[in-house]
Amino acid sequence: MRALVSRPGTSGSTGVADVREAAGEGTVRVRTLEVGVCGTDREIAEGLFGAAPEGEERLVIGHELLGVVERDAHGFARGDLVSATVRRSCGRCAPCLAGAPDACATGDYLERGIVRLHGFAREVVFEHHEHLVPVPPSLGRLGVLAEPASICARGIRHAMAIGGRQPWTAERALVFGAGAIGMISTMFLRLAGLEVWTAAREPSDAPAAGLARELGAAYASVEEVPLADLRAETGGFDVVVEATIDAQAKVDAIGMLRRSGVCCLLGIDGRPGHVRIDRRVIGVDVVLENRAVFGSVNANRVDWLAAVEDLDRARRRWPEALERFVGLRVPVERWAEAFAHRGVKATLVFEEA
Ligand code: BGC
Repeated sequence: MRALVSRPGTSGSTGVADVREAAGEGTVRVRTLEVGVCGTDREIAEGLFGAAPEGEERLVIGHELLGVVERDAHGFARGDLVSATVRRSCGRCAPCLAGAPDACATGDYLERGIVRLHGFAREVVFEHHEHLVPVPPSLGRLGVLAEPASICARGIRHAMAIGGRQPWTAERALVFGAGAIGMISTMFLRLAGLEVWTAAREPSDAPAAGLARELGAAYASVEEVPLADLRAETGGFDVVVEATIDAQAKVDAIGMLRRSGVCCLLGIDGRPGHVRIDRRVIGVDVVLENRAVFGSVNANRVDWLAAVEDLDRARRRWPEALERFVGLRVPVERWAEAFAHRGVKATLVFEEA
């Protein structure tokens, strides 16, 4: 069957190839409809990240699955829309053994399409029923957003738990970044009833800015509005979700918090170098104002279930805006266009509706 494969560590090795896969015990046969592309896939294609399964050179990439069940099995019925979780247990640590590989303590986890396990960018996927996530039929093709949505759901759930360690009300949030993680976080925070500002590089007349406004958020272009002005104008934020690929934005985010504020870092920037931060922000404000900063990766099953439910709520509330999240859908053969896409999300289509 056709699949998108890459040789991790080797830039320029990505391409469509013929691969095989056999059904394992407890698996469900899923026909892939489409697979979302994200920064991690680009990093793998550039040879900067990822690992092939043990003893193999190639990795089938893709970890944002939307598929349809082909045969009734293990509680799933033919025609059910599904996605699938990404991370698999290391088999040894307490969090993994408790069903929380998103909090793996050894780092020896496996991830579909990323680390030591083949991914979903292939025509047919056999997945263990425990890892499948039902996608509401009403969500349709938008179910392809389930995986990035699960990342946002985890980050926001943890931010609320951390903020809630002391008396606290989350009223105002700032989201840095207007990619899929930034826009879905904007949407989820709006659904939760917060006042939201979305800040990104794109100018204030860019499509991403319009999308944020349609979701009821205010948009600030960091090229046009200095962060200090945004902080002064708003009084600072209870929650900041940082979803950029620039570590400078992560430390800037800490300075945007108000008293008891919580900052969740979701973006990855693996470039060597240093960032700048006013020493009084980290040396005084974080301490005297009980601010908290944390990173979050991957997602727990509870986040997946919340994510698909919230995506469907969002579809009912902002149907047109949500449709525009996926700005490019191309057949897998045209994967390079999807990888070059700079909108919110591009997907590889394996089968049309
Ligand atoms: C994926 C996560 C994964 C992380 C690190 C992200 O792109 O969405 O599921 O845990 O990369 O590999």
